[in-house]
Amino acid sequence: MRPIRLAVALLSALALAAQTPKAPAAPPAPTHADILRGAYGPYRANNDLLSYHLDIRVDPEKKSLSGKNTIRFKMLRDDSRIQLDLHSALAVDKILYGTTELKYERDSGAVFVDFPTTLRKGRIYSIVFYYSGHPLETGRFGGIAFRKDASGHPWVNTACEGTGASLWWPNKDQWRDEVRNMRISVAIPNGLVDVSNGKFLGKTDLGDGYTRWDWLVQYPINNYDVSLNIGNYQHFSDRLGNIPLDFYALPEDLEKAKKQFAQARGMLEAFQHYFGEYPFKKDGYKLIQAPYSGMEHQSAVTYGNHFANGYLERDWTGVGISLRFDFIIIHESAHEWFGNSITAADSSDMWIHEGWATYLEGLYVEYRFGREDALKYLNGYKAKVKNNQPILTPRGINATPPQDQYFKGALFLNTLRSVVNDDRRWFALLHSFYQCFKYQTILTEDVVGYFNRHLGRNLTPIFNQYLRHARLPVLELRFDEAAQSVSYRWQAEEPGFAMPVRVGGPGDWRIVRPTAERQTMPTSRTKADFQAATDLYYIDVRKD
Ligand SMILES: [Zn+2]
Repeated sequence: MRPIRLAVALLSALALAAQTPKAPAAPPAPTHADILRGAYGPYRANNDLLSYHLDIRVDPEKKSLSGKNTIRFKMLRDDSRIQLDLHSALAVDKILYGTTELKYERDSGAVFVDFPTTLRKGRIYSIVFYYSGHPLETGRFGGIAFRKDASGHPWVNTACEGTGASLWWPNKDQWRDEVRNMRISVAIPNGLVDVSNGKFLGKTDLGDGYTRWDWLVQYPINNYDVSLNIGNYQHFSDRLGNIPLDFYALPEDLEKAKKQFAQARGMLEAFQHYFGEYPFKKDGYKLIQAPYSGMEHQSAVTYGNHFANGYLERDWTGVGISLRFDFIIIHESAHEWFGNSITAADSSDMWIHEGWATYLEGLYVEYRFGREDALKYLNGYKAKVKNNQPILTPRGINATPPQDQYFKGALFLNTLRSVVNDDRRWFALLHSFYQCFKYQTILTEDVVGYFNRHLGRNLTPIFNQYLRHARLPVLELRFDEAAQSVSYRWQAEEPGFAMPVRVGGPGDWRIVRPTAERQTMPTSRTKADFQAATDLYYIDVRKD
């Protein structure tokens, strides 16, 4: 069946290609709301977040929540207005500055807050934002979902990347500015457990059928990482050195969880080996069972991968390696280093989360099973790459970049390692790059600048070709078998693209430095057995 269906698909694709010229898919035009949410506008840029205290009550039966967020910030210039965000499905009850009730204006998801007097540059202010309502269940993983587990207990979870944390709580909903710490207080019906981010401080019986669970995040945190996991959880714990490990699963899955979650130790060992210590040691590391596949909530990774290896029980990269480990434990936890500790300052640059986390899967495979398996694993991702849109999307617009940010992003980093062509240097670079930018928000320019400075090379055209253009660079080879030579050049969109590449074959691999101009070299190899090392460099090759 399969070859026939493939052939039909290929024929119809060819027919389509004959009718319409192949052009990269144009992204849909951003809406007013996408720009308000995505842009780092003047009323966001005029202040710097210091802390949040989110203090809410969740009613799982009514599927509602109410409460307040105390927002502390420092003004960066004199102004009397700031921009916060709260989804229009939720009511703003009041916003207090001391005892003064502040005026505000809502525009789609934005809430512009006006102060009666000018806030002064350099001073610290605190406001309390009261809100309530029935949040919308939306997005890939539900945003905030009010469900029941199989035994009928409430099970409420959040996963709101993309849609935005303002779906369920008021905050400055963007990526550039993070609070330095956060307290999360969640009142829930007695008998249930809430697992949020950070260190568990304790619980208090409120005497009205509700218990408040208090959590303290002692590091910068991005909004979409802030999470609620309310359910009939059972808890067990472990330690890796001085890192507390805490695990939460439903009673019926407890034994499976005890077995599967043991993989967290090997994951932490591998990533600590490459990048240095786990970034959120004081908060501990947690794995929490959730009803969707998984999410990288900081220090509180949510897990729904069926307590089985692979990804939802599939061999994820299709080359027989994924089934040796739990994809969700490895991928989502890789985000503790890339996504949570180092965060992209704009969602346009989300490959800093996903390309890197996917590459870290490869590093995990390398640490556990060796370089050959890691190459096989990463190259398995080629089948998932589309090469029809650049990985980087326009800045200042709330949008999720194309899926190539994951797989092509990882294959690009693997390519970059071959360009560096010195593993000792490559691993030292990865370590120092992470250490330099940990706990910060950065853009692609920061990555490129760091790599260029530390290698003393101009890799900008290589980064640009892979991140800012849709297509792969094509290595054009033209053979003259009579003269025993081959000429070569790059065909690429990025001006000045001159990536070195390994060509030849077993026994006589060599690195050539093609440019856009043809160069010729002697070879005794025929067109058929002259190769480019496409497992080390993610490129297209054309032979004439
Ligand atoms: Zn991810």
